[in-house]
Amino acid sequence: MFDYIVIGAGFSGAVIAERIASQLNKRVLIIEQRNHIGGNAYDTYNEAGVLIHQYGPHIFHTKLKYIWDYVSQFTQWHHYQHRVLGSIDGQTVPIPFNLNSLSRLLPAAMAQQLEEKLVAHFGYNAKVPILKLREIEDEQLRWLADFVYDKIFVNYTAKQWGMKPEELDSGVTGRVPIYISHDDRYFQDPYQGLPKYGYTALFQQMLNHPDIKLLLNTDYNEVVRFDYEKHEVYLFGQLFQGKVIYTGKIDELFNYEFGELPYRSLRFDFETVEKACHQTTGTVNYPNEYDFTRITEFKHMTGQMHPSTTIVREYPQPYSRDTAGQDIPYYPVPQPQNQEMYKRYKAKANEQQQLILLGRLAEYTYYDMDACIAKALKVFEQQIQG
Ligand code: FAD
Ligand code: UDP
Repeated sequence: MFDYIVIGAGFSGAVIAERIASQLNKRVLIIEQRNHIGGNAYDTYNEAGVLIHQYGPHIFHTKLKYIWDYVSQFTQWHHYQHRVLGSIDGQTVPIPFNLNSLSRLLPAAMAQQLEEKLVAHFGYNAKVPILKLREIEDEQLRWLADFVYDKIFVNYTAKQWGMKPEELDSGVTGRVPIYISHDDRYFQDPYQGLPKYGYTALFQQMLNHPDIKLLLNTDYNEVVRFDYEKHEVYLFGQLFQGKVIYTGKIDELFNYEFGELPYRSLRFDFETVEKACHQTTGTVNYPNEYDFTRITEFKHMTGQMHPSTTIVREYPQPYSRDTAGQDIPYYPVPQPQNQEMYKRYKAKANEQQQLILLGRLAEYTYYDMDACIAKALKVFEQQIQG
């Protein structure tokens, strides 16, 4: 009945299913354990009628025109440029830390001098990861690096990951580099926005194809069985000979044979208040105060007009697959030893001809949405179509 099985209905699974159905006219079964499509990008209207992102705030941004054009087949856009403020020493200053943040936090003459040095050293518009800035020899810039590290990175990272920035792959804090510029935007990608009618509506459009069937509320283990010894796959008890694209956790797929890959989880605390606006920008980060890392107000992002507003506070927490409330693996933990464990699982997966791994969980990679889409399109072209 089906030519392909896709496990998981987030961006990775939905894009590959869409391509298979629309380009190859092959039949796809998507199996999703949740009661909805969209993966962690899922959005919904809450009881007050405010559009919220159930699994944390999602801003679509990409440098890649072909990704923007691909997604634009399924949605119109609410054009939006994300701006983040950080609560530092009783003030709110732009994050990523930039030349405006510098002049807000330090005395004018000092800020001016540091700005000149930064521009002379790195060039205007350069983006400098904090761990790189801390390697600098110049005494004054080194002082600034330590200041930014202390005020912005060290405590936020302790909350988010339970670690110091240097214990993680440098790419993690490198996502939010010091920006030698007056541009206050969180992302400088040329294409940014939110789907005009929401992410869930976008997914509905993407999956609206007669050759795509969707099985919600179903853990794949209920209907699919892998026999790794014999290199066989069974769907509803019958031998299945097509490809299986898997976007869940790779360690789960192999029954944690080489150990559990660590993840970080989050608890989201949503609050709806009966006023039009709670804060001046989409997100305010609290590196040094409170147990949460940031507060996001959805209406800034979605552009929705509504007399009430909903905010969400993000409380990082350890992931535990057996503990309700902590059992969503939001973030892979980028560290070399975890990459080593991942490689063992990946090698095992490579022995299974029918299996393709895709996405943030199956590839154990800190992907943004556009990167998931890019990877799914590439895998479609190279491993499925070709
Ligand atoms: P997921 O979205 O996790 O989808 C995997 C799906 O597989 C899930 O629906 C899951 O239920 C299902 N599944 C897993 N196991 C099974 C099983 N056993 N049986 C059946 N189904 C299963 N990216 C951006 O570009 N911009 C942002 O602003 C942004 N903000 C983010 C904020 C937060 C708090 C987080 C956590 C992530 C954010 N991201 C953002 C990243 C974005 O969420 C991911 O890139 C994207 O959702 C990953 O898609 P995916 O399909 O690979 O995985
Ligand atoms: N970070 C920080 N302070 C901030 C913002 C980010 O220390 O004010 C660090 C932190 O380690 C975080 C990482 O940079 O996990 C990446 O931040 P980003 O906003 O990209 O995280 P995400 O949106 O993926 O949660």
